[in-house]
Amino acid sequence: MNANNLLPDYDICILGSGPAGIIVALEYARLNPQKSVLLVEYGSPQQSGENNLDKSIHVKNQQNHHIPSECTNKGLGGTSATWGGRCVMYDDIDFIDRPILNGNCTWDETIFEEVKVHVPVAAKYFECGKPEFTFPGSSNLNHKPIADGFKQGIVTDAVLERYSMPTRFGKRYSADIEAQKNLTVLQGFEARDFAEPDENNNISFLIIREVETQKLKKIIAGRFILAAGAQESTRILLRNSQLFKQLGAPPFALGKYYQGHISGKIASVRFSGDPKKTDYSFSRDTDGSYTRRRFQFDTAFLKENNLLNTAIWLDNPLYFDPKHKSGAMSFMYMAMITPVLGKKLAPPAIAHSITKGKVNKVPAHLGNIVRGLPNSLLKPASIFYKRYCLKRKLPGIFLYSPQNTYALHFHAEQIPFAGNYMKLGSDGESLIINYSPTDADVDSVIKLHEALDKWLKDCNCGELSYWFSKEDLPGAIKKMSKDGLHQSGTTRIADSPDMGVVDKNLKVWGTNNIYVCSSSVFPTSGQANPTFILGAFAARLAQHLTSLPTNLNIPKKENFKISFDSIL
Ligand SMILES: Cc1cc2nc3c(=O)[nH]c(=O)nc-3n(C[C@H](O)[C@H](O)[C@H](O)COP(=O)(O)OP(=O)(O)OC[C@H]3O[C@@H](n4cnc5c(N)ncnc54)[C@H](O)[C@@H]3O)c2cc1C
Repeated sequence: MNANNLLPDYDICILGSGPAGIIVALEYARLNPQKSVLLVEYGSPQQSGENNLDKSIHVKNQQNHHIPSECTNKGLGGTSATWGGRCVMYDDIDFIDRPILNGNCTWDETIFEEVKVHVPVAAKYFECGKPEFTFPGSSNLNHKPIADGFKQGIVTDAVLERYSMPTRFGKRYSADIEAQKNLTVLQGFEARDFAEPDENNNISFLIIREVETQKLKKIIAGRFILAAGAQESTRILLRNSQLFKQLGAPPFALGKYYQGHISGKIASVRFSGDPKKTDYSFSRDTDGSYTRRRFQFDTAFLKENNLLNTAIWLDNPLYFDPKHKSGAMSFMYMAMITPVLGKKLAPPAIAHSITKGKVNKVPAHLGNIVRGLPNSLLKPASIFYKRYCLKRKLPGIFLYSPQNTYALHFHAEQIPFAGNYMKLGSDGESLIINYSPTDADVDSVIKLHEALDKWLKDCNCGELSYWFSKEDLPGAIKKMSKDGLHQSGTTRIADSPDMGVVDKNLKVWGTNNIYVCSSSVFPTSGQANPTFILGAFAARLAQHLTSLPTNLNIPKKENFKISFDSIL
């Protein structure tokens, strides 16, 4: 297998133990009990506080991108330690080339069809209930219109988001990992430098570095899988340009076309029918899992109108503005801005989306609380119990509006734009992130609100009222939108290294045995939060690797759980 005649210590070595790394590791290890798997994780229980990976990231535009420590977590389970657990499917439109994408939809529907096969496996890992994301598929859920009078058409209310526990992968799967005899975990090690490819483009070893001591170790494996999250998987490839020796240079797309989601609120909807018939909150499936409705747009409509895929859901008014007059909302806002308590209630990025980082009109909020007693306290107490004390947690808080008026929250695809990128700093180590919404992203959000408004009026169902003047909308959207949590695009799938970084089986172009399992491989971001479908990609990768011939001479080990020292 390799030029140095090194015997591999492991059949596969997975770098990073977030949801992607854990699913590939467990699936592959179970499908191949005779093969050995190593899972290398940067974080460890001993580490605390800010880590050096985050400290060496420079975010150029902090208005639209969270600071690094808010975007990812290190340690077994990765960023599932703070994720919200929203599980959403990609849509057909995400795999269809449209002029607005400027030729950058570098995957196609055949991949989507292949990945769908693995959705049931992903749903099990994420514990989000049945693998069904549209009505009428979910037997227990009654498909009444989202609001009185709503009709299906260019706008649909038949798409569901589902919710994970939210499953914290480290805690949830550590016993399964421990029980899997052919799976070994190393925590507290950073994947650093790969060997040069040999004449067959095989890479025989990887140098890892102990985070605590900086000591270097060599790991010899048959295949390596980068599952270090989007930004770190991208950084590892950028740092290891020797991997692309056969290509002459790293692929142009590496680190480029960075996408997240444009999101925020620019309008409210007032439904004209019976307020009690508005499906504004969660439903529960037979197994207790939570689901929720959203507005989405028909594939043909998006294609014909050259628009970006977008979800719009019913939301609360802005918490920080006491004009909502809700004692419960004011109480929750006050809790969220209370220094120590606020940090315990939600991860910083989520807290920011609620408070917008503002301490605003405290006396008016106190007035709302007093006027709304006892509900101002009873409602938050019941929410607190459901959200923090139960095993399956209430995923969010949506309050009933007797006026049948709801804020609208948009969550929209971005165009793959080469000017949004991750690249190495001049020291060859640090990562520079440049990310902003484009005019095309913003324009599509506005047009889709107009389309929703027209559709609701045509159905006699309701209408939108905007929070900004028409001229101010683009500026307002650019100002409010902030991501960095849903990273994708920077190691995208394509049919050739001229257009992408990995092939359709996630193998890095120019190499024979290195793979990327991260949302960075997604060429388009769609409306969907990326982690659920990433789980399906991880299960597909495990099966694909299983189907490959073993061209390695792996020594048979009696007990795969060898001590780490024995491989140094
Ligand atoms: C606050 C918040 C809320 C979110 N909510 C949602 C949501 O509701 N729905 C959704 O779909 N997504 C959500 N996300 C995004 C979601 O968390 C990520 O998409 C998901 O965790 C990605 O999984 P992953 O396994 O690719 O990477 P990660 O979970 O980031 O795991 C990567 C692992 O690799 C390790 N690593 C990094 N570099 C190295 C290295 N050099 N060597 C060894 N190990 C390394 C890291 O320590 C980490 O443990 C949210 C994110 C945040 C921050």
